Amino acid sequence: MKVFSTISEIQDYLSDKIKIGKSIGFVPTMGALHEGHLSLIREARAENDIVVSSIFVNPIQFNKADDLKNYPRNTEEDKQMLSKEKCNILFLPSVEEMYPEPVNEQYDFGNLDKVMEGLHRPGHFNGVAIVVKRLFEIVKPTRAYFGMKDYQQMVIIHHMVKTSNLPVEIVPCSIIREDNGLAMSSRNRLLSETEKMQASILYDALKLVKTRSGYDSISEIKREIEYQFKKNKYISLEYFEIVDMYTLKPLKIWAESRYAIACIAANVGKVRLIDNYIIFS
Ligand code: AMP
Repeated sequence: MKVFSTISEIQDYLSDKIKIGKSIGFVPTMGALHEGHLSLIREARAENDIVVSSIFVNPIQFNKADDLKNYPRNTEEDKQMLSKEKCNILFLPSVEEMYPEPVNEQYDFGNLDKVMEGLHRPGHFNGVAIVVKRLFEIVKPTRAYFGMKDYQQMVIIHHMVKTSNLPVEIVPCSIIREDNGLAMSSRNRLLSETEKMQASILYDALKLVKTRSGYDSISEIKREIEYQFKKNKYISLEYFEIVDMYTLKPLKIWAESRYAIACIAANVGKVRLIDNYIIFS
């Protein structure tokens, strides 16, 4: 696996490959890799001539200084994992390389960032869109792979790609989970064993929506889930929404949409976890 840390090096290397028509599958990450990330690499490997991944902890998408400071970093192990999966290129830029000048682009995502993560993490998706667009301009991927784990992010990137007319196909990938149902996340390594066990309440809540969706109203289900979280002393619920899969508009009654996804965010101590589950599609 080749490792590049400057834009000019990676572009020099890739431009020849692009000229001869090689397809590029791209997996952007913030590192501290786990099986969820590797599943994206495997999909990219299966569908493209060249697989490029990036590791960049993007400061402008963090809205809390502590969260950025504590974000897990594990580059040496990450490199080994990527090369084992036959990733061809790792792009590992510094903050100065990505942002030599102050950044001031502002994106308009319509209502897509007015709910859930966008509402609770102001500026987060603007920071995500800026870095993803820059990475796309550098790597020029044929396809880019994103996990459904960050469902709202995927919808917003899809929107950004469409409105900016970028020639890249966005490929959504399934959520990879621990044995107890907890969605894999780099942040899980900040949890104690007890917290990790307790954190399965997020997935249990999402499954409960699926089971109850045919019988109970959305407000009844929400009440039940809020009650379940109130009883758990380890975890506090930040939001729980059932939204339309395409517009992300929160649903009040089931009849409002035929495409519903339940999304949840909760804090286990200082660690923030998100998850989701498709209810109807
Ligand atoms: P991150 O390093 O957290 O920015 O994630 C990089 C990519 O991996 C994003 O597209 C995530 O949605 C995806 N990802 C993270 N966790 C999982 C998971 N458990 N299953 C599938 N994809 C994931």
